[in-house]
Amino acid sequence: MLNEADVVIVGTGAAGLFCALNIPKHIKITIITKNQAEDSNSFLAQGGISVLKNNNDYESYFEDTMKAGQYKNNSKSVEVLIRSSRSIIEDLVKLGVDFERNGEDFSYTREGAHSVNRILHHKDITGKEITGKLLQEARKRENITIVPYTTMIDILENNNVCTGVVVKTKDGAIYNISSSAVVWATGGIGGLFEHSTNMKHITGDSVAIAIKHKIDLLDMNYIQFHPTTLYSKKKDRSFLISEAVRGEGAILLNEKGQRFVDELQPRDVVSEAIYKQLKKYNTEYVYLSLRHMPKDKIEERFPNIYEKCLEEGFDLSTDLLPVTPAQHYFMGGVKINIDCETSMKNLYAVGETSCNGVHGANRLASNSLLESLVFSKRAAHIIGITLKNIKPENKISPYKGNLYKDMDRLQEEYHHLVLNETRKGSVNNAELCMHES
Ligand SMILES: Cc1cc2nc3c(=O)[nH]c(=O)nc-3n(C[C@H](O)[C@H](O)[C@H](O)COP(=O)(O)OP(=O)(O)OC[C@H]3O[C@@H](n4cnc5c(N)ncnc54)[C@H](O)[C@@H]3O)c2cc1C
Repeated sequence: MLNEADVVIVGTGAAGLFCALNIPKHIKITIITKNQAEDSNSFLAQGGISVLKNNNDYESYFEDTMKAGQYKNNSKSVEVLIRSSRSIIEDLVKLGVDFERNGEDFSYTREGAHSVNRILHHKDITGKEITGKLLQEARKRENITIVPYTTMIDILENNNVCTGVVVKTKDGAIYNISSSAVVWATGGIGGLFEHSTNMKHITGDSVAIAIKHKIDLLDMNYIQFHPTTLYSKKKDRSFLISEAVRGEGAILLNEKGQRFVDELQPRDVVSEAIYKQLKKYNTEYVYLSLRHMPKDKIEERFPNIYEKCLEEGFDLSTDLLPVTPAQHYFMGGVKINIDCETSMKNLYAVGETSCNGVHGANRLASNSLLESLVFSKRAAHIIGITLKNIKPENKISPYKGNLYKDMDRLQEEYHHLVLNETRKGSVNNAELCMHES
């Protein structure tokens, strides 16, 4: 049920939920979300979440992030990300998140382009563990209401001040919801691509609405392709074979059974190398081999991936796995400052839909869950301060006009707006980007 709220958050991924949990408890929050609350890319994260291991690790973590990002990163954002990482992990542990441990200490794993092991994980379902616990906590809070199957189709604007959102509910009714602040946490743009690891309903809606309302964007041409997704002819979401699998020693082989790249280089480099092999041998996939690892170790470390591959007819302990790159992550998005404020007053953006330049041109593995949490907490803090000086005037009213009569056309228009914008400037992995759905 829709109810009046001081703050409307759009999206129930890690960014939206963590923002809600960090806003002071006297502020009423409504979180709307397009499908059921569990349907977010955050739930799919396999590999883990990066963290500054100790103070000696700072220079190295900073350099790894900048190098992966081709030094196009905003260095201030990177500094905030890394310096805040340990306290974010403490917050998660307090919320009951269970990370793998060696005795009392955390057990750190590694992924491509990290020069040391600094990634925390929960088996190969880290996103589910973190986001599930955030959702559990949000459902307990009296000041938070989660409204599933409700889609933001526009914002309410008055002279570059955001005054709320326009939403479509499950039964097709359209409402205006006025609120003192709106937070966009709608994730990436993968649903716009034929081959993507993302959920299909995550289609960059905030970015489209930003374009419509002339809200500033940043780095729109920075799109990341994950090198290793399970090759399939099915039209479903591409299944990701986590970078952690290569981190644990899996190698890539071409059509001739030869290695052709250092598997632990940044994602853009490995994707590009695979793409060259596909062209060279006119094939649609290369092979990933984890055959050196004992079966029981694979089952223990990657239970989810092992099961899924078995379902598709491949035993990771004995078979070569056909893999191919797919769209995975959007580094660009709605431009924000270090506190997640957009160029429109009272409108904030957090998580993958936002961009403060932290990832540069290519995100370092396992930096995105961390980014979602670090910056959404900052947004929550600034919203708490801002709302102290505002007397909220909130209401919900049925929308009366006919602007949104043809939803299919509106959706098509939004998809085109976003994709056109990503094509401007020099595109990362240009040839791989061509297969949009
Ligand atoms: C398969 C996979 C594996 C990954 N593994 C890792 C990993 O190991 N480590 C890591 O750091 N990152 C990983 N990532 C990336 C990471 O999961 C995401 O970048 C991050 O979780 C984004 O969080 P978010 O809250 O911004 O968006 P999401 O979690 O995508 O949530 C977006 C939310 O917005 C809602 N929404 C969208 N549009 C609307 C609308 N118009 N109206 C209402 N609601 C809307 C959606 O329903 C959803 O609830 C992975 C991603 C994928 C796809």
